[in-house]
Amino acid sequence: MATRLDDCIFCNIIDNKAPSEKIYEDDYVTCIKNIHPVSTHHYLIIPKEHIRNAKELRANNAELYDKIVSTVNIISEKQGLDPAATCTGFHWPPFNTVHHLHLHVISPTSNISIINKIVYKPNSSWFVSTDYVKSYLEGRK
Ligand SMILES: [Zn+2]
Ligand SMILES: [Zn+2]
Repeated sequence: MATRLDDCIFCNIIDNKAPSEKIYEDDYVTCIKNIHPVSTHHYLIIPKEHIRNAKELRANNAELYDKIVSTVNIISEKQGLDPAATCTGFHWPPFNTVHHLHLHVISPTSNISIINKIVYKPNSSWFVSTDYVKSYLEGRK
C-alpha cells in the first residue's frame, strides 16, 4: 500500500478527502487540474505514494517514476495537447510549493506569462526536466 500523510493536501486529494478536479487516475498516479493554471492547460501528475520531492527519489522508485513520466503521454492525448508546445517539469529543492512530488504539465507554452516562464523555466536550478530527474535517479543506484 502506498503511504499517505494526513496533513498533506495532495494525499487528501488522492483519497478524495479534499476537493480537486481529477482528469485521470490509475493504480500509481492521480492527475488533477492545477487550481492556479498558468496557461490554457495546466495539470499536476501526482504519485499515490507520498514522496516529498524529486530529490527524495531513490533507485527503488524507478518504476513509479517511469509511470509518472509516461502519464504525460496519456494526458496529452486525452486533452489534445501539442507535445511541441507543452512544457513539463518538477520543482527542485529548496524551491517547492506542495511537499508531495508532482510533475507539472503546462500547455501551450506560448500562453505562459513572463513571470511564470521564470517560475517554470525548464532546467533552471529550481525547475527541472523529467530527463534530469531520471539521470539523477539512476545515479543513486
Ligand atoms: Zn502527500
Ligand atoms: Zn508545483
